[in-house]
Amino acid sequence: MHKSDFGLIGLGVMGKNISLNVAEKGYTVSVYNRSSDGEKNVVPDFLEEYKSFENITGYTEVSEFIQSLERPRNIFLMIKAGEAIDTVIEQLLPLLSENDIIIDGGNSHYTDTLRRSNYLKSNGVNFVGCGVSGGEKGARNGPSLMPGCSKSTYKIISSILDAIAAKDSQGNPCCTHVGPEGSGHFIKMIHNGIEYVEMQLLAELYALLSVSYSNQEIAQVFLDWNKTDLSSYLLEITAEILQKKEGGHYLLDFVLDKAENKGTGAWSSKAAFDLGNVNTMMSSAVFSRYLSSLKEKRVALAKEAKHNKSFQNNLDLIELENAYRFARLINHHQGFDLMARASGTYNWNLNLSEIARIWTNGCIIRSQFMIDCISYFEEHLELLSINAILNILNESEETISKVIQDAMANRVPLDSFWSSYNYWISMTTAVLPANLIQAQRDYFGSHTYQRNDNDTGDFIHTNWSNK
Ligand code: NDP
Repeated sequence: MHKSDFGLIGLGVMGKNISLNVAEKGYTVSVYNRSSDGEKNVVPDFLEEYKSFENITGYTEVSEFIQSLERPRNIFLMIKAGEAIDTVIEQLLPLLSENDIIIDGGNSHYTDTLRRSNYLKSNGVNFVGCGVSGGEKGARNGPSLMPGCSKSTYKIISSILDAIAAKDSQGNPCCTHVGPEGSGHFIKMIHNGIEYVEMQLLAELYALLSVSYSNQEIAQVFLDWNKTDLSSYLLEITAEILQKKEGGHYLLDFVLDKAENKGTGAWSSKAAFDLGNVNTMMSSAVFSRYLSSLKEKRVALAKEAKHNKSFQNNLDLIELENAYRFARLINHHQGFDLMARASGTYNWNLNLSEIARIWTNGCIIRSQFMIDCISYFEEHLELLSINAILNILNESEETISKVIQDAMANRVPLDSFWSSYNYWISMTTAVLPANLIQAQRDYFGSHTYQRNDNDTGDFIHTNWSNK
């Protein structure tokens, strides 16, 4: 019997589409899904629906699935992240052979990936934590893939991953060997963190523009911007969402304003805290989602608040466009800076230019700016060391400040814009009031402080109390 080149476990939204994508590229594919109660037909239904794909075979017994694969086996897990991955690994392990490869394509936490990698290595099995972005359509037509593993394992899997990945503007696959074990899932996590902010900025613009414009007019503003350097997949789909009508009404007006999340934004923010990196925008976007979910409390408190809304109608679209450009630059700067910090801390030797390149197609944060980032990071370690970027930020500082004031006058919360502005003015302020923080710490906890009138760097303690 001919053995399959590729095995896939988990015929959910993503798994189905990844397997079709692989099969379409000419590889033979075995698929498996657990047959828990009520789901006994997942595999047969899938095979029936896609019977034209003669190179896909399906299994409901895991041992038969494993036996159907060519060695070393390439087994792609596209299942729920968390405990399910450990459970499936334990099921597979006794059935696997030396040098087989398990690829986890789910949104696993990078520290779990590192743990699983070490565990499987000690059992002779190779493990790849592979970030996948692009949603359902990306999985089917070409996702952005972010595998983290040993170089030798990557050599074995790269041809299949390259074949199914989206292609950049030069026709190269949006897939690269990101770095060692754990780095692929770290990069995917940061991708999602940047995505949270990009989404939140658009939501804040929508809120601000809604003061004076209809959904259709806002869509037109976004469509116009999408023809400029601001163009992005998220801007494009947001314009489409704004125009969607149902029964003559804009559907968006009927969507409940409680944003959900699956945790990767919070993980990114936690990673920034753990690594001692400043990422104010991701945490502000995560908190904005949490805040939105407090719907009942908000509705109750809205009745108590003494509104002082002046409904000023003085929004300047050019200023708004400049403010949006400003905030996106800071978002990308913070996201890439966090990856640079992780790279240094974990010795991953990440290539930020190459990461930008694999994010130029297939993934949710693809944009014209991401394309520009390829060359920016070829020559620079961070965006804030590039004169062209500094010029844009300097020139837009006044406008973003004005937009924030407009938002305040209209009582529109603008957390992420505010966060980008605040970061910029802090980073461009030579003297911050942290001298007072240090004095307070030394007062109550004898934590010591350094003086700015000598350069010895010595830490000293003072008895500050007058009592
Ligand atoms: P779905 O909910 O559509 O599918 C989940 C799959 O996991 C199903 O096949 C399900 O099997 C299987 N599964 C769940 N629990 C277990 C378990 N304990 N043991 C074995 N199998 C299990 O999810 P998605 O396809 O959307 O997502 C899969 C992974 O990909 C997740 O980690 C997700 O975060 C990630 N991802 C999702 C993206 C998206 O846009 N949807 C984008 C990028 C990554 P069953 O049918 O039996 O329940």
